Amino acid sequence: MPDKTIYQQLREDGLSRRDFVKFCGLLSGMIGLEFSAAGKALGAAAGRAPADVVAQALKTKPRLPVIWLELQDCAGCTEAISRSTSPSLSNLVLNRIAIDYQETLMAAAGAQAEEAKRATMAKYRGQYVLVVEGSPTVFQGGAFCTIGGRSNLEILKEAAEGAAAVIATGNCAAFGGLPRAHPNPTGAHAVMDIITDKPVINIPGCPAIPDVTTGVIVHFLVLGTLPKTDGLKRPLAFYGHTIHDHCLRRPFHEAGRFAADFGGRSAREGWCLYKLGCKGPTTYNACSSLKWERGLSFPVQSGHPCLGCSEPKFWDGGGFYQGQSAPLNRPGKVDVGLAVGAGAILGGALAVANRAGKKRGVAKSEAVPPKGKAE
Ligand code: SF4
Ligand code: SF4
Repeated sequence: MPDKTIYQQLREDGLSRRDFVKFCGLLSGMIGLEFSAAGKALGAAAGRAPADVVAQALKTKPRLPVIWLELQDCAGCTEAISRSTSPSLSNLVLNRIAIDYQETLMAAAGAQAEEAKRATMAKYRGQYVLVVEGSPTVFQGGAFCTIGGRSNLEILKEAAEGAAAVIATGNCAAFGGLPRAHPNPTGAHAVMDIITDKPVINIPGCPAIPDVTTGVIVHFLVLGTLPKTDGLKRPLAFYGHTIHDHCLRRPFHEAGRFAADFGGRSAREGWCLYKLGCKGPTTYNACSSLKWERGLSFPVQSGHPCLGCSEPKFWDGGGFYQGQSAPLNRPGKVDVGLAVGAGAILGGALAVANRAGKKRGVAKSEAVPPKGKAE
């Protein structure tokens, strides 16, 4: 019997027609179809809007099988994808229409789990997408990371061999991450160093933003290709701007107003965290535009400097929380009005977070420190 289409599967899972239309609109926005040349060309050729292109693909294509391997990792990227407070778009895509094998999330274990992977690799040879979380290790033939008695190198190469494309999610898979930090005792590498005969795309981050990983999977499902990337194989739709480019604290940066300490009044009021070690100006990722927790906030908005987790040498590249004295992009003219406006927006966002914290029973001191207190 042929596989059900994604639309059939979603309908059987209780998704109404109206919700399906909304879902397609969200997906087309998520993968940047409106803005991608491939998406525009496809829409123009079919005489349809991008959301209709997505709807057509979901109605006609069977689900895209995904095998998700974990190598040297902390499972943080898996955790990020599975920790939504309510069913999210990413959950819907990954749980309902994609993942066949995921060591942490699947109910099966041991031989049963390995059999599920083997069956998917055989049935969908040349069609499935392989997602890799964690870094492969090469010393002593990969003996520092074994699963079911087999080396991680053997498992990775075997799964990549029959894959249509490989997605390296998280800094560890994309660039080597923490396991590759000096002195790199296990010989950790990036996935792209090991798999060189398949299309590989990197979704670095610590963790990777779940909607970006899902967006790339959906792009492949709808268009049959991986999205356009930068020189580090990162999808341009999500890594085309720095954190600094869309940061709410940016007007304060331009105005030369820099927070002096963590949690102090200036940091709470939205002043720039550059002198507390923020690496936003040199870090390409979508945190400041997509944000986390379903668009609620992201680390810099919540008062923590960007650590540069989506860049190579994340752990060895100059240390964390190291104050920088010469701010970048400092213009001659100070736009204090803009800075005050941004401060008001950020202050409002922090107040919302505080109220949400209260509702969840979080003590105020855990959410946002009281305003007006001396630094
Ligand atoms: S340096 Fe950091 S805190 Fe300051 S504006 Fe840039 S990204 Fe935001
Ligand atoms: S703000 Fe910077 S360190 Fe934090 S998750 Fe985003 S890219 Fe990574």
